[in-house]
Amino acid sequence: MATTLAGVPTAGAGPSRVDHDASVMSLKPSAKMSAARPAVVERRILGHSTRGRPIKAWRLGQPGKPKHVVISTMHGDERHTKRIVTALRDGKPIRGIDLWVIPVYNPDGWARDTRKNGRGVDLNRNYPRGWVDLDGPYESGTGPASEPETQAVMSFLSEIKPRRIVSFHQPLNGVDVDTKKPRFARRLAHALRLPRTSLNCGGVCHGTMTSWYNANFNGAALTVEYGARPSRQRLRVQAPKALLRVLGGRR
Ligand SMILES: [Zn+2]
Repeated sequence: MATTLAGVPTAGAGPSRVDHDASVMSLKPSAKMSAARPAVVERRILGHSTRGRPIKAWRLGQPGKPKHVVISTMHGDERHTKRIVTALRDGKPIRGIDLWVIPVYNPDGWARDTRKNGRGVDLNRNYPRGWVDLDGPYESGTGPASEPETQAVMSFLSEIKPRRIVSFHQPLNGVDVDTKKPRFARRLAHALRLPRTSLNCGGVCHGTMTSWYNANFNGAALTVEYGARPSRQRLRVQAPKALLRVLGGRR
């Protein structure tokens, strides 16, 4: 182990620590990017997938305002709701909220059009909240937070501590109102024109992101499921507008 001149061990301060920190990049938008995406005030690479693909996040709106996070494509084969998130990112500047968006949470699953990550883990069963060893379609990994995607997003959410997280999935068609902030869930269901439903995983949710966040932070995370084939107009125009309104933002 390396030591300082005073003989104090410096574990964690060597090159490996530097490499780790370098993987969580915070980048100011370039002039070209600002012109193309006037809503973006910051972008970050939160970490990398098991196949080395970056997990990208964009910050929109006004720093200092209430913080929220919107996530899509945690399951790589639930592809349509990404349009809501990219419409938020690529539209006019946003005011009234400090909004982070993650259009593709699971870049390996996205690339291969599969639910799971690059080594066959369902990322929404991998969180350290009620984690159990599941196999088959809900393969939960070798242990709680075993996957780099989970670690990257956990670290990001722990730092940001958003007031609300909205996580888009498909195809169950409904907003989970059996949740931490049912009033918010009901308002969002109404605004997005989705039915109110209960997505309680048949009794207990094992290792889901929303259950982990809801148990550990003051803010609330909510799952929103669209149907199998929502229209482009609905995703690109209606949903971003409605979501912004419910979160307290405007553009
Ligand atoms: Zn899903």
